[in-house]
Amino acid sequence: MDLGTRDVKPRLAPEHEWESPMFDLAQQQFLRAAQIMDLDENIRDRLLYPQRSLMVSFPCRRDEYSQVETVFGYRVQHILTMGPTKGGIRYHEDVDLGEVAALAMWMTWKCALMHLPYGGAKGGVRINPNELSRPELQRLTRRFTMEIVGMIGPDKDIPAPDMGTNAQVMAWIMDTYSQQVGYPVPEVVTGKPIVLGGAVGREEATGRGLIYLVEEAAKHQKLDPADATAVVQGFGNVGRNAAIYLAELGTRIIGVSDASTGIYNPHGINLSNAIKYVEQNGVLKGFNGGEEITNEELLLLKCDILAPCALQNQITEQNAEHINCKILAEGANGPTTLEADEILTKRGVFLLPDILGNAGGVTVSYFEWVQNTQEFAWTLDETNARLREMLVSAFNRTLMRSERNDVNMRMAALIEGIGRVAEAKLLRGIFP
Ligand code: NAD
Repeated sequence: MDLGTRDVKPRLAPEHEWESPMFDLAQQQFLRAAQIMDLDENIRDRLLYPQRSLMVSFPCRRDEYSQVETVFGYRVQHILTMGPTKGGIRYHEDVDLGEVAALAMWMTWKCALMHLPYGGAKGGVRINPNELSRPELQRLTRRFTMEIVGMIGPDKDIPAPDMGTNAQVMAWIMDTYSQQVGYPVPEVVTGKPIVLGGAVGREEATGRGLIYLVEEAAKHQKLDPADATAVVQGFGNVGRNAAIYLAELGTRIIGVSDASTGIYNPHGINLSNAIKYVEQNGVLKGFNGGEEITNEELLLLKCDILAPCALQNQITEQNAEHINCKILAEGANGPTTLEADEILTKRGVFLLPDILGNAGGVTVSYFEWVQNTQEFAWTLDETNARLREMLVSAFNRTLMRSERNDVNMRMAALIEGIGRVAEAKLLRGIFP
């Protein structure tokens, strides 16, 4: 179906204020879904921009005492209708307001699609965390937490890890927030270390969830994962775990990559050797378990399952014609452009879109928050069983919507999520 919405421009804010390729992608996806749904114009305009955006600049003292850097940070809450807002904090040198706003919008649709009681949020700090020492990272995290402290809280907005942040960073945020209020508040963040109230299974939940969904997609495509090959881009939290759980299904992992290089081995990459190598050397470059290739070449490898688990804007008009997989399982947020989507759909690639594919992370984050507020911890088996049940149910809702509306899985997932938020907005009405 050709909806020709590429030219629909946001009408409400001066364009330059929100100029960003990633926010443009999030808005255009939303507008296309809104058009298919025939969404009320007033509600459409309310959902097109975040409700709250905070941009801060603050000093970060380096270990060399006289050196002080000004750093930029962001926290964006897209929709406050559904409950507290929820979303990760990203540390990356390219982060800007548009990127964080796009990620916050996707979080809204993701939480709604998964039936979680949250609106979407996201945060970011524009630095390269790999260039900071541990004390520098801690000082930066604590100061950034103070800059956004009025915006976050267990009933307001609950951060979690994203690219460049991890359980240790969450521990520092939790500690800083708790120091401010005067008592421990573990439920202010999720993705914490277990000893501080983190949920068992949270760290690997995004990768594990993606593979639960790949199992469903494979059934639908009549593909046996034990006979399949896979390529995974990104070897961080999401990519590494996705590769591990795929390998557990018997899938042959023929390509992996990180920011430093890609590795190709048609006979299958020995994952535990690759993981050990990265633990010792920090990056995949130099790993001798396969042939070195570029990330661009990696994406074009012939395989059954391609899982982009690194960063946005990887599958575009330029390479979509040459992508050679049956299932595209998106672990990363925003890896595929709208133009590429159309090409892939025409070519019959089955899509597990990001807001469904990587929803395992926020789902187990929700479990963590629930366990913290009830002060009662679940077992790993309980966590994984509930995760699978919720993801399979969201997969089935999305698949049914895709068949009913004759749209691809991305549009179907968006329609499911947007529909729920629109209904809630109508029911709450307008204040005053
Ligand atoms: P991470 O920081 O743990 O790992 C990122 C990986 O991507 C690293 O291996 C890095 O080397 C690689 N990478 C960076 N730039 C690259 C490039 N140009 N080419 C190839 N590889 C590159 O981050 P993560 O938590 O695994 O997040 C990855 C993606 O998954 C992001 O889009 C994030 O928003 C999304 N995501 C993460 C979670 C989570 O729970 N961590 C949840 C939902 C979505």
